[in-house]
Amino acid sequence: VTNDYARMDRLNLIAEMAAGIAHEIRNPITTVKGFLQMLGWKNELKQYQDYYDIMIAELERANSIITEFLSLTKTQNQEMHLQNLNTIIQTLFPLIQADAMRSDITLIQELGEIEDIQLDEKEIRQLILNLVRNGIEATEPGKTLKIKTSMDSDRVVLAIHDEGPGIDPDVLAKLGVPFFTTKEGGTGLGLAICHNIIKRHDAKMDIVTSPQGTTFFVKFKTSQI
Ligand code: ADP
Ligand code: MG
Repeated sequence: VTNDYARMDRLNLIAEMAAGIAHEIRNPITTVKGFLQMLGWKNELKQYQDYYDIMIAELERANSIITEFLSLTKTQNQEMHLQNLNTIIQTLFPLIQADAMRSDITLIQELGEIEDIQLDEKEIRQLILNLVRNGIEATEPGKTLKIKTSMDSDRVVLAIHDEGPGIDPDVLAKLGVPFFTTKEGGTGLGLAICHNIIKRHDAKMDIVTSPQGTTFFVKFKTSQI
């Protein structure tokens, strides 16, 4: 018989081991990538350039899966400070604006007057980035993506609204499951990381989706509650 305590311990152990392995895999990847690049520069091997490019792109993909996976398992070093969500969005804006522009999407920010709350800036940046990137990836060029903040009685609400095709019920049911993706080349880790960050902030997420678009709402408690 296993009780929940033992199961939790084992899960933690597995998470720690997985994180350790992920970390260790990075070094050989870096080595292989370096040598591949060197070979790619050799003139007599120029005919294989396309293969080198693919190999390097695939190694980079492996690397980014590991990076995202590690940020999923990381549980220490949370730095909570009383601050305003709008300030974080404003400092992040140039970065997401560049992402949106590259996809010919108009980014609108509608920042309301909101209370300061306890936030880990790095994690919140990651949360917004992941949600905005998904929004951009779901939206056709020429359309609009909106980031909005507001108060909903006693909660600070972040809303990321896209004009994409919406999310099918069968996909919706699997959102946030690590490695679940419908995208070619997707990692399926973005929303799993969001869920983690949201849990660590004792916040909650609601999704409203229709064929006209999707809104991800993240609702943070204020000190009143
Ligand atoms: P990835 O982006 O690598 O696929 P995510 O965890 O970020 O991984 O997202 C998982 C899946 O959720 C996506 O593959 C997509 O099918 C769906 N999804 C997420 N955000 C949206 C959105 N704004 N509109 C439509 N589908 C979405
Ligand atoms: Mg994503």
